[in-house]
Amino acid sequence: SAMQVTVALGERSYDIHIASGLLSRAGELTKPILKQPRVYIVTDENVAKIHLETLKAGLAKEGISAFVEVLPPGESTKCYANLESTIDALMAQGADRNDVVIALGGGVIGDLTGLVAGLLKRGMRFVQVPTTLLAQVDSSVGGKTAINSKMGKNLIGLFNQPEMVIADQDVLQTLPVRELRAGLAEVIKYGLIDDVEFFEFIEQNAEKLNAADPEILSEAVRVSCEAKARIVSEDETERGKRALLNLGHTFAHALERANGFGPALLHGEAVGTGMAMAFRYSQALGLCSGQEAVRAEKAIFALGLETDVRKLSGGPYEGDALLEHMMHDKKTEQGNLTLILAKGIGQSYIEKQVDADSLRAFLKIET
Ligand code: ADP
Ligand code: ZN
Repeated sequence: SAMQVTVALGERSYDIHIASGLLSRAGELTKPILKQPRVYIVTDENVAKIHLETLKAGLAKEGISAFVEVLPPGESTKCYANLESTIDALMAQGADRNDVVIALGGGVIGDLTGLVAGLLKRGMRFVQVPTTLLAQVDSSVGGKTAINSKMGKNLIGLFNQPEMVIADQDVLQTLPVRELRAGLAEVIKYGLIDDVEFFEFIEQNAEKLNAADPEILSEAVRVSCEAKARIVSEDETERGKRALLNLGHTFAHALERANGFGPALLHGEAVGTGMAMAFRYSQALGLCSGQEAVRAEKAIFALGLETDVRKLSGGPYEGDALLEHMMHDKKTEQGNLTLILAKGIGQSYIEKQVDADSLRAFLKIET
């Protein structure tokens, strides 16, 4: 069953196509936006091995040729050197403003390629073909592109919306299980933020989601993209409602920092634990019932994610270190820590007056 989500931002809008078998249809999907029958594909070695031929065949069906730039996998690919070499490689093959570049890969490839597209000859158009669940539900909406610098992650970038997103559900079948679960953390996040019905859908289908069942997964991707598109379009400047997307993320960033952003802890894994922490902290503050907090925690755990900080991989994590990281989070203004807390499942809100002493006590118990 094919589905489509329209993302409307400002005067521009684009579609996210969600279905199985879309790589084979990439030619017919992209043809309407091409000025010449050629595209530039940027991908990584892992994805190229498994999915590049299918995409190229789908393009070839419509007579579209492709120049391919393959990068190494991993977060360290998002660097200045690869920004330069990718732009140079594309230009050496004649890429200009009229051309379209296709990002085939996870968040790493999407972030770097979106930035390449924004900069090359002052901007060429790009199409996202996200191959991780995380990229399908997260990076496909919002238009954030970036590379990392030695000053920190995602500091060099720009907002750049794609022409279209092709979210083929078949590619998720080859995703390593840890990557699948990390993506599921961002999926359940949308239920926990403001959608009890979706939360219940996830609760009831946890097993199928964990087995990457294509029907259930595509429904989950559709609802997640719709939720993010709605929240982002209501708040393009990122001052208000968009902050809700950070549910679990301030805790998660502290865990990731404490771990040194190593491979032992994926972003989504940290978010899973971070959301459980947000609910437990909400309970500790008397905002949320114990029943609701436990239900949230169980649903996260059922997706194969760790909810206990003491059992989380990449640890041990230490309470005071986590607090220190949280106080230095970029969302912390003048020592005033803002956290997304919850009055229940689907009842998240922005708390701008978090008390550092109670948070310290909470983190001590957690660790
Ligand atoms: P994210 O989307 O989580 O930011 P990355 O771009 O770092 O992730 O991709 C995570 C890892 O999964 C990388 O090693 C990447 O090569 C690999 N990968 C991406 N998509 C697939 C896929 N569909 N099948 C198998 N491996 C994939
Ligand atoms: Zn996230």
